[in-house]
Amino acid sequence: MSARLRIGIIGAGMAGLYAAYRLKESGYEVVVFEKNSDVGGTWLQNDYPGLHVDVITRSYEFAEMRSSTWSKRYAPGVEIGAYLKSFARRKGLYPLIRFGSEVAEASWHDGVWQIVTTDGETHVFDVAMVATGFLRVPKMPRIEGMDDFRGTAFHSSRWDHSLSFTGKRVGVIGTGSSGIQIVSELGKRGHDVVHFIRTPQWIQIKENPSISWLEKLLLRIPALAKYWDTRMARLRVKTDGPETWRLEPGPDRDAANQRFLDVLEQEIPDPALRRKLTPAEPLGCKRIPKSPDYYRVLQRPNVQPVFGPLGHIEHDGVVDGTGVKHTLDVIVFATGFDTHAYMRPMRITGANGVTLDELWQGAVFSYRGVGLPQMPNLFLLNGPFAPINSLAIPLCLRDEVGYLLRLLAVIERDRTPIAPTRAATDRFVDTIREKLPQTTYSLCDNWYTDASGTQVIWPFTRAEHGRQYDELNLDDFETFGLPVEALS
Ligand code: NAP
Repeated sequence: MSARLRIGIIGAGMAGLYAAYRLKESGYEVVVFEKNSDVGGTWLQNDYPGLHVDVITRSYEFAEMRSSTWSKRYAPGVEIGAYLKSFARRKGLYPLIRFGSEVAEASWHDGVWQIVTTDGETHVFDVAMVATGFLRVPKMPRIEGMDDFRGTAFHSSRWDHSLSFTGKRVGVIGTGSSGIQIVSELGKRGHDVVHFIRTPQWIQIKENPSISWLEKLLLRIPALAKYWDTRMARLRVKTDGPETWRLEPGPDRDAANQRFLDVLEQEIPDPALRRKLTPAEPLGCKRIPKSPDYYRVLQRPNVQPVFGPLGHIEHDGVVDGTGVKHTLDVIVFATGFDTHAYMRPMRITGANGVTLDELWQGAVFSYRGVGLPQMPNLFLLNGPFAPINSLAIPLCLRDEVGYLLRLLAVIERDRTPIAPTRAATDRFVDTIREKLPQTTYSLCDNWYTDASGTQVIWPFTRAEHGRQYDELNLDDFETFGLPVEALS
């Protein structure tokens, strides 16, 4: 182990950048591996038309670099991407990052992590930190005939910007946040759009006003900015309800349900269409897409909703479940991500040759979202059971990285690698699984659901997420001896 820990971070998205910044500030030796040619991760790869962040953007910033220049309350994706680049530049992170450097495998040997990149280079670290995110690996469905399609087809996170949509008929498959935003934007631009809706989703209609020049001026003054943020937080509770409605049944959940039904009534005058767009699944079991205008756009003459499962795909279009053919030039698969891939397909091998795939056989899990048994000195950011639905990512990272910095100080002080024990990890996972049935997340299959049928999500409040890290709980960890030569 070196005098100051050498830490290899995998991924330069929001999590990797934030960790790199905090670790660098603490004097650690940091190298970041990034397969892309720039920072941003999911905000670099997703650049479809209409992309906006769906939390109030002032809560989507790092406390260490506040911004007063967002154009809208929910800023366009391009502004988030620019913010992350600016963070990396201003915090001096670019020199730490090896771009175009994809990690193929990481293995624990003789008290260090050996990180091997796809170009065959090997790098050695005392600690590995995996910040590869969960919305990274596109999920493409297998639909009969899809390879025969002669138009252009791509996943929402691999947008083909060389394509002109003028005069083209576009089919969008998927009703999650990506599909809703794409249909709204293409529909507003006047393109001919068919939206394939297998399962109607609850959609929150939220206005997205521009931030005026006066507000931007106020946001430069910390006391006034604080006032603005408090006002927004209050507004959020008013429109979204208290955070606990998802976590336990009761009047708040019923009230939220009624609010959504009222909005459907206001937005869709045609009762037959309203019926088709009213979800059968309970509110909040899937992550709720937000849009100022999706329902209105869907009722435009240039936009056609098609309900139910798809039939098959032919060379010039999609045949729906009722046998009707929809002739198309373009198909956008807004069909989501393999959210449980996490660090895979990287090959990770921990102590005594145990692999990540063996550890996660059947179901993904973690200790407090950040650790794994048998993986000494390997830490995850936004890992399984992180509060990815309820807490804005920067706030989640503040909790996680704060805790990891305290753990790293212990590792450095004692010069001993550590990992959570299997028993402590099981206790953590059991607490989560016990609570999940009360939450809305457990009421349908969604992208949190793993192969064993468990929702991999934080089922407690935001405050409880922070509080779980109050104590280091070193009793939950076991040490992994260093080879004799390393101790000299
Ligand atoms: P998603 O929520 O997983 O939605 C996937 C959609 O594809 C669902 O509507 C699903 O229908 C449909 N689908 C999948 N396979 C299909 C098939 N064979 N035939 C027909 N439909 C099919 O994916 P996403 O929209 O990319 O969103 C994922 C997450 O990314 C979001 O929940 C959010 O956390 C994040 N996100 C955030 C933003 C933002 O902040 N602005 C924007 C985009 C995404 P079923 O429901 O029937 O399975």
